[in-house]
Amino acid sequence: MSDAAMRVSVLASGSTGNAVYVEAGDTKVLLDAGVGIRQLQAAFKEIGVSLETLDAILVTHEHSDHVRGLAALLRRVSVPVYATAGTWSQIASASEGCADLVARTIGAGVPFTLGALTCEPFALSHDAEEPVGFSLYAGGRKLVLATDLGYASARVKEVTKGADAYILETNHDVEMLRAGPYPWHLKRRILGDKGHLSNAHAAEYLLDVMGEATGEVYLAHLSQENNRPDLAHHELARALLSVHREVRERVQLYETRPDGPTPLADVGAKHSQIS
Ligand SMILES: [Zn+2]
Ligand SMILES: [Zn+2]
Repeated sequence: MSDAAMRVSVLASGSTGNAVYVEAGDTKVLLDAGVGIRQLQAAFKEIGVSLETLDAILVTHEHSDHVRGLAALLRRVSVPVYATAGTWSQIASASEGCADLVARTIGAGVPFTLGALTCEPFALSHDAEEPVGFSLYAGGRKLVLATDLGYASARVKEVTKGADAYILETNHDVEMLRAGPYPWHLKRRILGDKGHLSNAHAAEYLLDVMGEATGEVYLAHLSQENNRPDLAHHELARALLSVHREVRERVQLYETRPDGPTPLADVGAKHSQIS
């Protein structure tokens, strides 16, 4: 395993669009391209990274809030794209017009290496063809991307245990969702086993998987209709406090934004000033 420190920025997060940037040494990858090319370029500029230096794009699943910007991005940068066979079967159109597309097929439970980064996809319960989350390893650190899951299976918990940092779905507040404007079939979909993780379920999951090393949690994929950042923050803070005051003090909770990046930060830089 490489000694290169891992750094992360959640470039955009929410029901409207998702993208995460991760680097380790000279290795630079984008996880999902669910926002338009202009927003992506602006986010990269804000964190001081050139889009042209990307090495790879990893795609979690085919929903538009994860691949909306992929085709436009591939017209600008020629990098391999990694996705499961099921996801590839759904995003073929994203590669139209990209004659030199390098499509790599990955599978849950089969780790692969990208320069200084080791990437381990894991299967998620979500209403897509073959969705995955990722555990990323570099420099002795572990970063987990776990969004778009109806619930956290025993297997998901096993492979995501003890990470230094989590990008964790806190999609909705159950009461807000129930009382909100969505039609019933959509509410049922979101609340179901193949939907999205609520604040409360995210808190439960975090308590199950976090360990001594866990110091950073990014509250991700918030619904703008059915959640508020303060509700997600409060629910997780309360859960951490229920374990121990020291745990609450150790674990930093970071809000993410649909329209801008979080500062590029070291994974495992507990208590360091991030903003
Ligand atoms: Zn999504
Ligand atoms: Zn999705």
